[in-house]
Amino acid sequence: PNGPPAGQVPPARLGTQMPNERPSSPIATAEMLAVGAELLAGETRDTNSGDIAGELTQLGVEVARMSQLPDDLEVVTEAVRDALGRVDLVVTTGGLGPTPDDLTRESIAAAVGQTPTVDPELEAWLRDLWAARGLPFSHAHLKQAWLIPSAEAMANPNGTAPGWWVEHEDKLVVALPGSPRELWPMWRNLVLPRLRTRGLGLDRAVRTLHLVGIGESALVDVVGTDLLEAENPRMATYARADFVDVRVSAVATPEQTAQEIVAQAVADLSPRVDPYVFAIDDEDWLDALGPLVGDRRLALAEVGTGGYLGLLLGQAPFVALSEVRPAAPDAVALAAAVRQRAAADIALAVIGHERGDDMQVEIGLDIEGRTETVTRTAFRGGDTGRRRSANTAIAELWRRLRA
Ligand code: AMP
Ligand code: MG
Repeated sequence: PNGPPAGQVPPARLGTQMPNERPSSPIATAEMLAVGAELLAGETRDTNSGDIAGELTQLGVEVARMSQLPDDLEVVTEAVRDALGRVDLVVTTGGLGPTPDDLTRESIAAAVGQTPTVDPELEAWLRDLWAARGLPFSHAHLKQAWLIPSAEAMANPNGTAPGWWVEHEDKLVVALPGSPRELWPMWRNLVLPRLRTRGLGLDRAVRTLHLVGIGESALVDVVGTDLLEAENPRMATYARADFVDVRVSAVATPEQTAQEIVAQAVADLSPRVDPYVFAIDDEDWLDALGPLVGDRRLALAEVGTGGYLGLLLGQAPFVALSEVRPAAPDAVALAAAVRQRAAADIALAVIGHERGDDMQVEIGLDIEGRTETVTRTAFRGGDTGRRRSANTAIAELWRRLRA
């Protein structure tokens, strides 16, 4: 609505120049600054920061901080200046529009102590955009033709706001528009290639172990503060909705690659956590159970767990039958019954009851005729409790098959 359309061809120099080719160490750390009052009002979620942070992390850059900032010159200036004091790369999104509340350019200029001027080439390009549509050019739009001595413009093929690539005392600021539609093509086609040329990321490696049957606080004791306090490799525990994770990460040293350090750390950790680790990285229950079930067949039955047992395992090629029942007198009889009916080798049945704020989970197992009942508590009721009940039941089966 406010101006000429996307897709105009920008001046040739926009986004085609390479950054100053001077030797610099690779970008190891970054901060994300998302600018816009709508973010603080809770009207727009800041997805840009997390999405870009995910890409940077994959590339070996440590994202040290993400902030959401109002359209306020002082706040944004201070944030850019502070971030430049801490990290190698500052990525801003938003605030590049033509209106007086779009203040990201002003803020970056102030943070690096430079004064913006209108770049004649950019101005001509902008004016052409409007002229091509037969629209009057408003003075307000001149902001989008601004540059500072340290900044280069980056073409925005989907909008009128060019980005900025700012080299400042060995640090880098990349300013991108807030609209994801405009931002992503610029990130992919301009920013990433330049970052790679400049040297991006350290050799980092990460492995995440997924554990069941142990809470986070007990896990801290099992892993031990000696490992948890180390800097490289770094180990951290995270309580997820259904599991607990141990994340092991490392940065290469002159002696060892990051992968080697992580592999060694996981090997050191293994004796302490092995009884609980059912999956690593992207693996899930199917990956954990598949090799243990082998060419046998598994039957499932559940009562009071909202179908979660079937949702978690129903896709598995080794599942012969998956039933949700309205009621059943006891879990082990249910397991034996479905194993027979499906002519399966193994059966897992679960009956969940809300008890107070939690779920009491009765688990029936029938492994080739050897039957067993186990009772467990899953914390929380409702949907969370039902899902946890199913996970608890699967964990019991997994432990027995592994034994
Ligand atoms: P702006 O560049 O600040 O004018 O933002 C344009 C549009 O992009 C906004 O109306 C939002 O819908 C979207 N947007 C801005 N910032 C973000 C962000 N951090 N995450 C996701 N979307 C955003
Ligand atoms: Mg804005």
